[in-house]
This record gives sequence, C-alpha cells and structure tokens, in this order.
Amino acid sequence: MDGLRADLERLASIPSVAFPGYPPEPVEEAHDLLVSLLREAGVPTIERIDLADTAPVVYGEIPPPHPDAPTVLLYGHYDVQPAGNPTLWLSPPFEPTPVPGVPGALRARGIADDKSNVIAHLGMLRVYGGRPPVGIKLVIEGQEEYGSPFDDYPPTDPERFACDAMVIADLGNLRPGTPTLTTGLRGACEVMVEVRTLAEARHSGEFGGAAPDALLVLLRALATLHDEHGDVAVPGLRRDPWEGATYTEEEFRRLASVRDGLPLIGTGSLGERLWSGPAVTVIGLDAPDVAGAASAVVPYARAKLNLRFHPLQDAKEARGALVKHLRAQRPFGIPLTVTPGDTGPGFEARTGGPAYRAALTALKEAWGTEASYVATGGSIPLVNGLARAAPGAEVLLFGAQDSMCNLHAPNERVLLSEVRNTVVAMAAFVREYAADFRARQAPSSPGGRQ
Ligand SMILES: [Zn+2]
Repeated sequence: MDGLRADLERLASIPSVAFPGYPPEPVEEAHDLLVSLLREAGVPTIERIDLADTAPVVYGEIPPPHPDAPTVLLYGHYDVQPAGNPTLWLSPPFEPTPVPGVPGALRARGIADDKSNVIAHLGMLRVYGGRPPVGIKLVIEGQEEYGSPFDDYPPTDPERFACDAMVIADLGNLRPGTPTLTTGLRGACEVMVEVRTLAEARHSGEFGGAAPDALLVLLRALATLHDEHGDVAVPGLRRDPWEGATYTEEEFRRLASVRDGLPLIGTGSLGERLWSGPAVTVIGLDAPDVAGAASAVVPYARAKLNLRFHPLQDAKEARGALVKHLRAQRPFGIPLTVTPGDTGPGFEARTGGPAYRAALTALKEAWGTEASYVATGGSIPLVNGLARAAPGAEVLLFGAQDSMCNLHAPNERVLLSEVRNTVVAMAAFVREYAADFRARQAPSSPGGRQ
C-alpha cells in the first residue's frame, strides 16, 4: 500500500483535465506516468489509441497464461473533472492532502474519480508480479469526464475488446465498508420546451390579464410532469420495484444536503425513485431575471429538462414519452414547442454468471461482508460501447469510490482502506474467476477423472 499510495498521490498531483480550454500537457503527463507504471508492473504490450479530438487512450495487454484462462478487461479513466472554484477547496485541489479527522482519507480532485481505481488495477497487477491467472486487457481512457468519440469506438474494433468479463471500475461503494456491485445505470436524455406568445413584451398593467403570458404557460406545462406527491406523472416511463440495497433515508438526506424539516419528493423506496424509476428535472429556465424584471407580460420562455429513465427502457422510447406528454399540453389552449435533445442509453448487467459469482466471493473476501447490489443514476456511456463490442462478456461494476467521495464537487476525497480493499477484491476476483473458468473448461472423462 505504501507504494500504491505514493503512486496515487503522484497521479493525483497532475491536473489532467481534458476539457476544452485546459492545457493538454498535464493530460499527456498523466498518460505517460500511467504507461510507465503499467510497464513497471509487467504489462508487456502497451499501445496508445489516438482518435480525433480525444485524449490518448491507454490500451495494454497481458496474454492469458494458458489456453484455459479467461480474459478480463479492466476499465478506468485518468482524466478528471475541473476543480471548479478553488476557494471552495480546503486544500489545493492538485496537492493530495490528508483529511483532518478522517483516518486514511486523502483529498484531491480526481483522487477518487477515477485515479483510485486506476491505481487499484495497478495494485492487482503488482500482487501477481505482472502475471495474473487470467489474460488482461487494460483500457484506461483520458477524456471520460468531457466525453469523446471513444464512447462509440469499441464496436468498430471488436477484436481488441474481446474478453470474457470486464471490470468497469469507475464507481464504488454504497457507503465506506459496504462492498457494492452496481448492476444498473439509468439512461439519460434532454428535452427543450419553449413558448412564444407575443412578438415582444407588453406593459403588465395595460395587457396583463388577457395577453397570454409565456412564462405562465411554461410553468403550467412543467407542473404536469409530477403528481401531487412528486412522482413522475408522464405516461410510458418504466418504473419497477427495486430489489437491491439502497441508502437509508438519513444517509440520502445528508448526501443530498436536504434542509432540515423538508420532506423528500416521490413515493416508494429510494431505490425505485433513484434507480429503477424515472426522474424529470428542470435543469435550466430562460425567463427575465428578477433583478432586471420590468412590469411586463413575458413574451417568451424556455426550459431545459433532464430525464433519467429505467436502465432497460429504450432511450428513444423514454424520450418519446416525455416529448409526447409535453406536446399534448395546451395550457390556456396554447401549444408548446418541444425539441428532443441528446440521449444516452441505460445499462443493466446480467447477474448470476461465473464472473458475478467470482466477484461476490472476492468482494466478501476483501471487505469481510456480503456484497450489496445497487444501481446508479449517473451514466457511463462507454459501458454500452464495450458491451456491444463484447456482447458475450459479463460486465462487473465495482471500485474504490464511495458515495461520500464528493465526486465532481469541491473537496473530493478517497479512503485508502477502500483502495486497499479494492486491490484485494480485484486480485481475489481474477483468482476465483480463473479457477472456475478452468474447472468448467476441463472435459470430464467417463471415469470421472479430470
Ligand atoms: Zn469517473
């Protein structure tokens, strides 16, 4: 762990932000450091995948040690979110710093998302001196946070991504100390709604009361998206009971920073509201701002909606349901202009296969307690690309982050205990999976000898 911690701190000291307007040198520097670490850890073949407008993807291969060994693809990313407002940070975002009062916690941008998991992959390779009992394909991308054409690349080069199982390590545990397999990712899409009622604003004293107010029309339309309990009221959006683990209401309130005394919205279990059901959020609104507001009927208003939908619902179908609902609205008899935006599909992992069984054993071994199943509302677009490239592979989502890491927020932190346990889990996973794979490959002779 001492060596891994030092390497994690080195990697997290590099501001590898792959957003437009940020210098490309630190991204290259993080790439180069990663390549040298992997080489030292015994990865014999390392290539760089360069796509247009995309930070380089690190691709590495360790061939299977024997013909009966499966191949496991390990995914992570070495780029990070921008640090945001530096005054909100309690220590400089690119100087990894111990968190006072939290033993074994280190604070830095990207130290959890996703450098902790990149380091966990490295740790697993070190456990085996670079010769794990399975074949390895490493895919560590450099522009996950901003997005890139790499999301759609794997199906165009399926041979390269062919594997029996993949470990997508860009997330982590429901809470520290609770080993967690994420089995579903909600899909996402955006929809724009606009209303124009007048050619221009008109005096609210002279015209208000009869002239149609665009903002009122829009607000009435938006109000139809939820029922009086806060559940989504758009027909055609899939909602199923959630069978896995979830946060306690107390944990969720703290994580969401809900003000004391206020209720949450929606009904049913938190898992159903957050993961196996839809959510519609109004993420932007164009209307006159209060400071500059004139006494006038508003002629034009616009809202941007973000829809999150069930992991297994078709993205176009989900978006279509929201668009259809809005197009059917006629507040005061006035139609809306509804424009569908980008969609990203959800993902649901097949559970119950040999890689899942091996992962359950490995997570229990690492954390000393049974693994929980959760889903997440965030999306990892590349997962779908990888799953299409290797349709037979089992997809496992686990890693060293936890729900209290402040991902994408100020004061991101990671717990070294979670990094350590993730290394142990990865090492145990490849051991278990290889043993099981071999047992299943071995032909049984009539005498029962193998
Ligand atoms: Zn990430």
